[in-house]
Amino acid sequence: MMEFTKQLSAFLEKSLTAYHAKDNVKAQLLENGFTPLLPTQDWEICESGKYFVERGASLIAFTVGQLDHFTYKIAAAHVDSPALKIKTNPEKKTENMISLNVERYGGGLWYTFFDRPLKIAGQIVTNTDGKLQAKTTQAPFLVTIPSQALHINREANDHFAVNLQTDALPLYALNDGNLIETAFAGENVVAYDLFAVNAEKPYVFGANGEFFASPRLDNLTSVYASLQGLLSAKTDKGVCVAAFFHNEEIGSQTLQGAGGDFLEKTLRKIAFALRFDDNEYDKALASSFFLSVDNAHALHPNHPEKSDPTNKTKLGGGVVIKSHAGGAYVTDSLTLATVKTVFENAGVPYQYFFNRSDAKSGSTLGVSALTRLGVYGADIGLAQLAMHSACECFAIDDFQALLDGLTAFYSSDYFAENGVVTIE
Ligand SMILES: [Zn+2]
Repeated sequence: MMEFTKQLSAFLEKSLTAYHAKDNVKAQLLENGFTPLLPTQDWEICESGKYFVERGASLIAFTVGQLDHFTYKIAAAHVDSPALKIKTNPEKKTENMISLNVERYGGGLWYTFFDRPLKIAGQIVTNTDGKLQAKTTQAPFLVTIPSQALHINREANDHFAVNLQTDALPLYALNDGNLIETAFAGENVVAYDLFAVNAEKPYVFGANGEFFASPRLDNLTSVYASLQGLLSAKTDKGVCVAAFFHNEEIGSQTLQGAGGDFLEKTLRKIAFALRFDDNEYDKALASSFFLSVDNAHALHPNHPEKSDPTNKTKLGGGVVIKSHAGGAYVTDSLTLATVKTVFENAGVPYQYFFNRSDAKSGSTLGVSALTRLGVYGADIGLAQLAMHSACECFAIDDFQALLDGLTAFYSSDYFAENGVVTIE
């Protein structure tokens, strides 16, 4: 494996849930000299400083450059992926076997979660001597969802629709067992957000090692690339922001989601800590730029007819810029032209994504975030196959392009000097 795929691999393997992903981002920020800030306190920040603030499994990191041009360059990605969420009182006994009662978190391709090693992971809240504390954690054992044998479910190869309440309960123990007591022995667990997630490791495949497969590529590839872009950017103007949000897979309209006020409040707090007033804050937003970074569907080799006929998004075709007339993506002609210019100036390959006109569009956190903020933006991302499967894949060259694209975005002074394209 190449060095950058090794590092991505390590990040994916450790990032079992949104909570783990956020913790791993935080560890890299601390290693790179970023200072943690608390939303409950006044912020002391200055030019050349590097900071981050958290809200649950969401985190916003930023670096402060010269402020003669006060603008924000923001890239945002989501830390969550579809998974099976464990309910309270999850143990369900059938004869001498105990399974776990789960509900859907996001729109998983659920049949792919069967017959895989699954980890129980997420956040527990414990009570230690009257003090409540949230901890990111995982159980020390695996569980699995066994398929019915073909001999018992003869129609499985023709049509198999997963009923999450009856088909998808992971098998957990024989005879007896309380999940929380066996998984987190010695902890006084009061409440939890735990998920059954695919525990398989990432791997490289293809005749020339050109492909990469892993659980949770949507959207941890974007999280990783945005973070590396922020860390490696050579910029001296404005404020560079990398925002990592929970809850995109359930629509973003939550306290920790991009539809909440976390980003807006954080950008405002940055402006005021730097002694800018309301008017200057609004002016900064008007010449800022936002990239919503999320994976895109590549053309499937077995089903090319499912892709748009004139904008074929290809594995190996570069960073994807997404557009949608119905507004599912925030890209418009002004912002498309801006992104193309930044990528072309940096030699970053790019391509386009449109849905087929007879197909329903997916969406990203871009719309939720920008409706609140009032900043120009575009939707970009990595081309991939098997989105929302327990294991997804992409072409390694595209990931390099995404890393380069995000570094170019943060390094560009285009926005600080020009805003988006001049309107005549
Ligand atoms: Zn996504």
